[in-house]
Amino acid sequence: MLQKLKFLTVFLILGFTVYAQDQYLTARSEDLEKTYTSQKTYKVKEFTQKFKVDKPKNIIFLIGDGMGVSQVFAGLTANKGRLYLENCKYIGFSKTSSGDNYITDSAAGGTALSAGVKTYNGAIGVDMNKNPVKTILEEASEKGLATGLVSSSAITHATPASFISHQESRSSYEDIAADFLKTDIDVFIGGGLDHFNKRKDGRNLVEELKTKGYQIETDMQKIKKVKKGKLAGFTAQVHNPRMNERGDMLPDAAETAINILSNNDKGFFLMVEGSQIDWGGHAASTIYIVEDMLDFDQVIGQALKFAAKDKETLVIVTADHETGGMAITGGSMENGIVQAAFPTGEHTAVMVPVFSYGPGAKEFIGIMENTEIHAKMKKLLLEK
Ligand code: MG
Ligand code: ZN
Repeated sequence: MLQKLKFLTVFLILGFTVYAQDQYLTARSEDLEKTYTSQKTYKVKEFTQKFKVDKPKNIIFLIGDGMGVSQVFAGLTANKGRLYLENCKYIGFSKTSSGDNYITDSAAGGTALSAGVKTYNGAIGVDMNKNPVKTILEEASEKGLATGLVSSSAITHATPASFISHQESRSSYEDIAADFLKTDIDVFIGGGLDHFNKRKDGRNLVEELKTKGYQIETDMQKIKKVKKGKLAGFTAQVHNPRMNERGDMLPDAAETAINILSNNDKGFFLMVEGSQIDWGGHAASTIYIVEDMLDFDQVIGQALKFAAKDKETLVIVTADHETGGMAITGGSMENGIVQAAFPTGEHTAVMVPVFSYGPGAKEFIGIMENTEIHAKMKKLLLEK
């Protein structure tokens, strides 16, 4: 009897310990998502601040979806105090409210940046009355400039879609994909293959793109080898995965696009989106945000590397809105540690930063409406 009791006691204690450890692990992993601990850091280059011209021949427009000042500072801390972004010496703030809401979504935010109109949340390249509005990418293309879109989400997702498509709703992915065929875009790289070749209307847009002269690639190694001509690079069926799986997809895709587009003597307009900074904010995950912020900074590094050599390229880095109301509540610059808290899982109304580098960069200082960014880019790139 005593033996049996002993056994039971041991069993109970053991059982409780296992249970308690389980609880502890769950709690800890939640805490860990709130704290980023430095993995590896990278060296940041300083680029020239001297340029050849006053008005840029090319614009590389970089959108960190959901990237507010806290997201930037989280990345800066994680890399122990340095970012490529710091080469951008001209800094402003963008007011992001949409046409029907104090807080924008990425569709209205993207349309404000691409076409210069405040519209309703969910709108892709259309105004408050659902009429199409011409985007800077379309206008650049009409003037003979080369154009490109790169994204770490599906290329049909709200942010890139706002630059090339005109749809009443951001969720009309297959209609958005079809709009790519109506344009003369030179390069696009991102996810979203399903929206091109697994469609309800039975059209195979991949075949149609081939007929139009596009090189179609679905493997990043092959995408990277394309040096000229038209390119449709599909890196995922829908969205690209997180950093640990997709690796350097985004900076590599940005570099590839820049190389191809720079063949055009008249210049180019390229938009690259770091899509998943926003998703990290929705998930209240400091780790997710930092990983994608640093990935986006690598894209910024690629853009600056080209611009510093070319000396006729304007690089603008901004966001469509902030996500999560991220507050940095602790950390260490020496050790690359960031702790954060998130009061909401949604977008917030706060102004977002605008950083710029190159000819025309000084136009982007002060507080501006998001729509003014479009007006300034258009004036500098297309009105000469
Ligand atoms: Mg987006
Ligand atoms: Zn979002």
